[in-house]
Amino acid sequence: MSNDTSISKDLIGQLIDGKIDDDNATRLQRLPRKDHDRFVAYIEVLQSRASWPDQILLRLCDKLYVVRNAQNQRVVKCECGHEFGDYRQNWKLGCKVRVRRTAAAMREVYDPAPACPEPGWQEIREFFCPDCATQHAVEVVAPGYPAVFEMLPDLDKFYRDYLGIPLPDEAPDWYTDRTEQVTQRWAANAAG
Ligand SMILES: [Zn+2]
Repeated sequence: MSNDTSISKDLIGQLIDGKIDDDNATRLQRLPRKDHDRFVAYIEVLQSRASWPDQILLRLCDKLYVVRNAQNQRVVKCECGHEFGDYRQNWKLGCKVRVRRTAAAMREVYDPAPACPEPGWQEIREFFCPDCATQHAVEVVAPGYPAVFEMLPDLDKFYRDYLGIPLPDEAPDWYTDRTEQVTQRWAANAAG
């Protein structure tokens, strides 16, 4: 495999699209050392495909990113451009949510039937972007369980210690879960 950056980016693009052939996938997996440049190249490929100018800091799932926006805030952003807000708050709380509670509703998405969650003990929650309706996540949890905050990345540590390219806006309070600020705001609004 060539070390040519353009070829690497081409392969990364194929990897992102799920179109990489088996030989190249195996060769990528068998490389003796993971190079730090690969993450940078990966981000550059994602950035080249984005329809907005905000700097991508991390990809959370297929169409969801942590970016630095025009206001220098680190926010979660959908591929369509919708911003979910501060990345320290669980972005799921800004989604449209479909909850499947009955056996009939669960069987629509589970097969075979024995694999189905048990109504009453579990529910299926599907989280959609309110603008483009992309389904960003699905979780199966007990009714009443808080929305699972799947990942709060320590971006400062990752960029500084693992990539060697510290972010210009490092601060000690970036790596803090602030989801409760959303629910507290909801509670305050509900109390009138
Ligand atoms: Zn969207």
